Amino acid sequence: MIKHFLRLSFIFCFVISAQAGNTSDKKDDTPAKPKLIIGIVIDQMRYDYITRFWDKFGDGGFKELVGEGFFFRNTTYNYVPTFTGPGHASIYTGTSPATHGIIANDWFDRTENKMVYCTDDKTVQTVGSTSAAGQMSPSRLLASTVTDELKLFSNMRSKVIGISLKDRGAIMPAGHLANAAYWFDGTTGGWISSTYYMSDLPDWVKKFNEKKMADKYLSKDWETLLSIKEYTESLADDNKYEGKFTGEISPTFPHKLSGLAILKNQASTQTTNYDLIRSTPFGNSLLKDFAIETIESEKMGKGENTDFLTVSFSSTDYVGHMYGPNSIELEDTYLRLDKDLKEFILFLNNYLGKDNYVLFLTADHAAVNTPSYLQDVKLPAGYLDVAAKFNELKAFMIDEYRDDSLLLSFSNDQLFLNHPLIAKKKLDLASVRKATANYMLSMDGIADAYTADEIHNIPATDGIPLYLKNGYNAKRSGDVLLVLQPAWVEFGKTGTTHGSPYMYDRHVPLLFYGWKVKNGETFKANSITDIAPTISSFMKMEYPNGCIGNPLTGFLKE
Ligand SMILES: [Zn+2]
Repeated sequence: MIKHFLRLSFIFCFVISAQAGNTSDKKDDTPAKPKLIIGIVIDQMRYDYITRFWDKFGDGGFKELVGEGFFFRNTTYNYVPTFTGPGHASIYTGTSPATHGIIANDWFDRTENKMVYCTDDKTVQTVGSTSAAGQMSPSRLLASTVTDELKLFSNMRSKVIGISLKDRGAIMPAGHLANAAYWFDGTTGGWISSTYYMSDLPDWVKKFNEKKMADKYLSKDWETLLSIKEYTESLADDNKYEGKFTGEISPTFPHKLSGLAILKNQASTQTTNYDLIRSTPFGNSLLKDFAIETIESEKMGKGENTDFLTVSFSSTDYVGHMYGPNSIELEDTYLRLDKDLKEFILFLNNYLGKDNYVLFLTADHAAVNTPSYLQDVKLPAGYLDVAAKFNELKAFMIDEYRDDSLLLSFSNDQLFLNHPLIAKKKLDLASVRKATANYMLSMDGIADAYTADEIHNIPATDGIPLYLKNGYNAKRSGDVLLVLQPAWVEFGKTGTTHGSPYMYDRHVPLLFYGWKVKNGETFKANSITDIAPTISSFMKMEYPNGCIGNPLTGFLKE
């Protein structure tokens, strides 16, 4: 009898606990705000990489984000030039170069009278190596980021960290108030920072660097993940549209990384060129390892306040520049990134639980199909020889004004004129700009040329004039802004580049996943500057100060 009773109560208890399990499953214990926000930027990712490579992706990576998350399939950049520095700055400030001031990666600065780099800062020092690669800060970024706003909103309690192989991919997203930003140093193969953020690397970063993960990744050859016959979305492995690694005779698999990474100096001592890893999919794997280490060591998402980790995968950009969108190397890089994303998502789901963090994934710009390939298949495309054009322009200046020193720089499709000299010669700046613009317009491959005066007066409506206006910073931009014809580039004939106002450079994926994110998709047009205000809206905090975007709606559960 007792035995029977025990058995009954055992069954009874079992039923109760099973029901309790069920009810707690139904009860929504999703927190009111995510514990951790993860911003993922895939450098140079075209929207169609998700759709072209879809059948080759495994489960758990891109398919998990699309299958469980919300896909904004019509997300575009709303300014030129579409480069990495401006891209990262715009995603996180919710505004364009007109306001945040990052008008390119490198640009001609009138006050310093030289080319400057978007994150260089000689007032700070490298932390973690003896190289100069750490003399970087966000000092040229003029607006606040959504990560800055999170720091202000939480009275500095939220932890904000930015990581990327590229300094600018780590620094722009992390903003001005970050706890840390880390980027990769090609001389040591480790992660470094600058005195802008800290005086010494944390022990966990030093320990991670001591593991020499870059050596491990570079010790293996880069073989294709699948059998090479399966890369049906790409051209043949050996084709004339691809660049080559220094030291390789053909752009073909396997790429023997361990040999390619060895540098011999004059004394014949060997050093490793760790920068090689950037142009392989393993640069992304190394960043994924470091992202997981960062979250665990810094206990991100485990505190009272929402933390923010920004992760920018750059190898996609280096591989894209060298091999182009139609190469097996590029396809393989995305298949391997898909596996890295799967590992990262699995880690996050175990460490925090899917309901406790929110992740977004987008790109800082996209890219054009290799123009020489487009020409061969009879699409209009071309190459602008900037050095030759600059010389033609100098000749024009001598004809017109008897002085070619009126020209200071031709960079990022912008011409910079010498304002003090124009004043000294008592020339009218607006007329010189207009004459130069008209002359440039007569050149092959130039679709249009706008003067700074015209851009000031453009009503902000839509299309290329609006993108120019959004990209035009009154203090930093040039005197004449050129628009090349579609698929015309300033680049070598292999691989690809970006920077134009055309759809192939502006159209990028945008996915949200985790926390309260519904499964779904939309083709409604939205802009890259909408991401930051979207985060502000669900965090119920202020928008970044220069924000011009609007919060995205309809993708969160009530
Ligand atoms: Zn980029």
